Amino acid sequence: MFSYRHAFHAGNHADVLKHTVLVSALQYLTEKDAALTVIDTHAGAGLYRLDGDYATTSGEAEQGIRALLAGPVVEPEPVDPNAPKGKYAPKKEGFKLAPALADYAEQVRAFNSGNSLKVYPGSPFITQRLLRSHDRLKVFELHPTDARALEGNIAQLEVGRQVAVLREDGFEGVKKFLPPPARRALLLCDPSYEIKSDYLRVQDLIADCLKRFATGTYAVWYPIIPRPEAHDLPRRLKTMANKAGKAWLHATLTVKSGSKSGGGLPASGMLLINPPYTLKDQLKEALPQMVQLLGQDKGAGFTLDSGS
Ligand code: SAM
Repeated sequence: MFSYRHAFHAGNHADVLKHTVLVSALQYLTEKDAALTVIDTHAGAGLYRLDGDYATTSGEAEQGIRALLAGPVVEPEPVDPNAPKGKYAPKKEGFKLAPALADYAEQVRAFNSGNSLKVYPGSPFITQRLLRSHDRLKVFELHPTDARALEGNIAQLEVGRQVAVLREDGFEGVKKFLPPPARRALLLCDPSYEIKSDYLRVQDLIADCLKRFATGTYAVWYPIIPRPEAHDLPRRLKTMANKAGKAWLHATLTVKSGSKSGGGLPASGMLLINPPYTLKDQLKEALPQMVQLLGQDKGAGFTLDSGS
């Protein structure tokens, strides 16, 4: 049924956007003592080898997390004016990552030793690392191979009941966890959108969640591709939030001009309902740097808008 494997895409530009937002939101939500419940409706395998077959075949992390950690690049001074262009050298003097990107980079580095970057943490691992012992994490994964990998990876953390791995449909399974015991929750909804109906399921899920627990923070990732459903989803979520009188925040990152002939995902977005109030300012600083470091052509750019 599923052909999508996140291992091909781990650490790409979409993960950089999504996980930067995730880290910032979790940092804010764990400032208060009361227990936080985090629900990850589409968790993936949890940990990915960036030197493994999947990642090296796709090369997506090169233009995502690796480009971010390398810092700004410039064409070196041409020694020979006729030399072919395209050799890049890092230029790091004076450049500092925006705080939200630096915090995200620190989380990724924590899974690696020294300056090497062999492992990329997915959303369940990034989240678990930022939780306190009394917080809870519920992660859903349906793909049999990825669910087995996720269970094995989580078991190694030896965190007992803090993390529950559920081999269930994430769209359905969340219902039993809302409202959460301490009435504080962050839900990340990050489907693969392999099936067209996922867009509508996301919309229905968030509508249902808002009914069950109106004050939760809801974060939805979606791809920006030439498909009407993909363009409708953020618009519909904003309308839903406006009708419910809830604040929303919408960030998009485009790394290259879209091409109808394929060539990989050019852009994606994150739409949050009840976002941390600190997040917009953090993204105002982080998004231009994502464009600077991850942008591949003149089509690169970002948007950031909000409503309350
Ligand atoms: N959230 C992960 C991260 O940021 O590291 C990546 C998740 S990946 C984009 C989407 C995952 O959802 C895939 O591993 C896929 O197998 C899984 N999946 C697809 N449909 C599902 C469903 N209905 N319920 C739970 N998981 C599902």
